[in-house]
Amino acid sequence: MEQSFIMIKPDGVQRGLVGEIISRFEKKGFYLKGMKLLTVEKSLAENHYADLSAKPFFPGLVEYIISGPVVAMVWEGKNVVVTGRKIIGATNPSDSAPGTIRGDLAIEVGRNVIHGSDSIESARKEIALWFPEGLTGWQSSLHPWIYE
Ligand code: UDP
Ligand code: MG
Repeated sequence: MEQSFIMIKPDGVQRGLVGEIISRFEKKGFYLKGMKLLTVEKSLAENHYADLSAKPFFPGLVEYIISGPVVAMVWEGKNVVVTGRKIIGATNPSDSAPGTIRGDLAIEVGRNVIHGSDSIESARKEIALWFPEGLTGWQSSLHPWIYE
């Protein structure tokens, strides 16, 4: 089944939003397939955001991601990449709808509390980058109550 890489950024961890954010994915019906708290090496942050390396905000973005621990996760479920992006909301919290994580919990684009993969291909790359050790295999017994 489809998987997405979701990361609670350092501001989300510092602000005590870990439980709130996990809860939204959990209550939706997605399955948690990987999770760890880690302080990010600069090279990992640069690699993760390599596509944005030419942007003027790139150095500040890397400093932000390495400024404190993050919670790196893999969530699984039908359409989790696209639906995860909807749960997260628009990149700039000024444009994120109320009800989304960024719309409810953030103000500025450079402190937008969470990352989510933007495509199935990005998700595959990001999961390999952040979880080289692999994931814990398990199946939720709730499956038939969530999927028809
Ligand atoms: N970002 C920023 N300034 C900008 C655009 C993006 O600081 O003008 C940061 C922001 O934290 C964003 C991250 O760079 O989440 C990655 O940008 P992307 O366009 O991939 O947005 P996302 O996929 O996170 O919505
Ligand atoms: Mg992105």
